[in-house]
Amino acid sequence: MTRTEHAYLNDTFLFEHNGSKVVNVSRSENEPKQSVVLLNSTIFHPQGGGQPSDVGIISDGQTTFKVLKAIKSGEQVQHLGTFEPEDSTFEENAIVHQTVDKDSRLQNASLHSAGHLIDFAVKLIGFDKWTSSKGYHFPQSPYVEYNHNGQYTKESEIVETLNVELDKLLKKNENVKVEMVPYDKWTEIPSYLPAGEPVRTINYGGICGACSGTHVNTFGQIGSKITIKSAKKKGAVVRVSYKVE
Ligand SMILES: [Zn+2]
Repeated sequence: MTRTEHAYLNDTFLFEHNGSKVVNVSRSENEPKQSVVLLNSTIFHPQGGGQPSDVGIISDGQTTFKVLKAIKSGEQVQHLGTFEPEDSTFEENAIVHQTVDKDSRLQNASLHSAGHLIDFAVKLIGFDKWTSSKGYHFPQSPYVEYNHNGQYTKESEIVETLNVELDKLLKKNENVKVEMVPYDKWTEIPSYLPAGEPVRTINYGGICGACSGTHVNTFGQIGSKITIKSAKKKGAVVRVSYKVE
């Protein structure tokens, strides 16, 4: 099967794209009223890495396909949704226009990027033994989790110092650096990234990791404030809950 070009990796602020080609349309196996559209290239970020899917519209000028969810399946991105009118479809090789819902894309990029900035702040306040274990960047109750490896003080203290540090970082407004690194030159590659392909690394103030989420370009684009709500320890894990305004 053809690999989908993951165009969403190149520009978080690309909300529209014209000229991609329909590779295949099929019925969804799980949702009988939905179809699955495959394109040769997509600007829709599929759900993964703790970040929700983009939503939006794909159109060939006559028929509209409402994208309710994009998911990764191997090297492909599947767009799941509904045609309007209901009994219409796209022809194979049709040239289509993609429009990603701007507000939800920006909210997702902001919440995801805030997770990276919290990783950075955690190191800056001295929790150097904490290692990232999970991110949940959905609008409802986002959080990041760390293995604390025996390093923990008082929750109220952690929350307060993290909030002070995050305020400083947002004001500093540094650039987020993105670099493509050859696959064999990078370790700790998440399993959802394509094997053998150059790895996209993201660098927030020196904390660097491979990631396929959508990112802002500068710290300040995350928002005017990141608030740590709690930093609860449970067993080996600390869950840091946050909100972005
Ligand atoms: Zn990321």
